[in-house]
Amino acid sequence: QAKENGRNGYQFHTLELTRAAENRQALESRLHRAITAEEFELYYQPQVDVASGRTLGFEALVRWRPESGEGVSPAVFIPLLEETGLILALGDWVLHEACRQAVRWRAAGLDKVPVSVNLSPRQFQHLDVVELVRQALADSGLPGELLELEITEGALMAQNLETQERLGELKALGVQLAVDDFGTGYSSLAYLSRFPIDKLKIDKSFIDGLGQDARADKIVATIIAMGQGLDLRVVAEGVENASQLELLRSLGCDAVQGYLCGRPVPAALAQVRLAREQAAVPA
Ligand code: C2E
Ligand code: MG
Ligand code: MG
Ligand code: MG
Repeated sequence: QAKENGRNGYQFHTLELTRAAENRQALESRLHRAITAEEFELYYQPQVDVASGRTLGFEALVRWRPESGEGVSPAVFIPLLEETGLILALGDWVLHEACRQAVRWRAAGLDKVPVSVNLSPRQFQHLDVVELVRQALADSGLPGELLELEITEGALMAQNLETQERLGELKALGVQLAVDDFGTGYSSLAYLSRFPIDKLKIDKSFIDGLGQDARADKIVATIIAMGQGLDLRVVAEGVENASQLELLRSLGCDAVQGYLCGRPVPAALAQVRLAREQAAVPA
């Protein structure tokens, strides 16, 4: 307790809290303006097929490019926007922009390249989420099959009929559903048998320990085996080196995403990667 630290400790504590609150307030209002000023951009990170090495699709990751001042990582500002509710405005922009981008790639003659979009818990729980996704598909003209929605376990925690129905309605639009950061949530595995999930993304924290920590190896092996048993595609997140990739290959992991195969890049660079790949004559 702060009070037990005595008078000075208490003062220090409140000073720190005040400063943090001020920073937070300042950041919040900068973000508020950033949404109106459209200071955001999407980067795209490839998901790569382990067997063929080909790009299977891209995850859209938001970046903040402020006109003035320093940008902040989405790992910091997404939770803040989530708390304030501003995530709904940003999330809708992300959804529309990612769909438009996937259509641009198609128009450029690049074979069907699905795009994955992160849905925050608050977005997923929003009553209109199905309508918002339907609208983004309709406005862009993107077929539902080329959109994947990433939802964290936390958002699936409410294992009620409403969640089940919502996921069913999203599936009816043709979209793919992925569980993001798999293994880090507090939910039971029961949802895997009840909900229409297509893909598991194994969280980076398990991949980090691959080849070094026997327990991490076992956990990853078990998740992959479970995915295979349930007919789910399994993607490993945050693959940074070749030995992790080799281990994942030997365990039968379908796809990988991480700095080893490609960092998140602007749409134009992602398109260069695709064009180069699709121009290559298959062996
Ligand atoms: P996530 O969905 O799990 O995305 C993966 C994060 O891991 C990304 O961080 C990506 O840049 C990073 N990453 C990928 N490969 C590697 C690797 O090999 N090594 C390391 N160290 N990191 C890797 P990013 O872009 O900073 O995003 C962080 C989180 O912010 C995302 O985690 C996601 O939860 C959230 N986020 C990002 N964009 C959006 C968005 O448009 N909407 C929503 N709702 N959330 C978003
Ligand atoms: Mg994600
Ligand atoms: Mg993830
Ligand atoms: Mg993650």
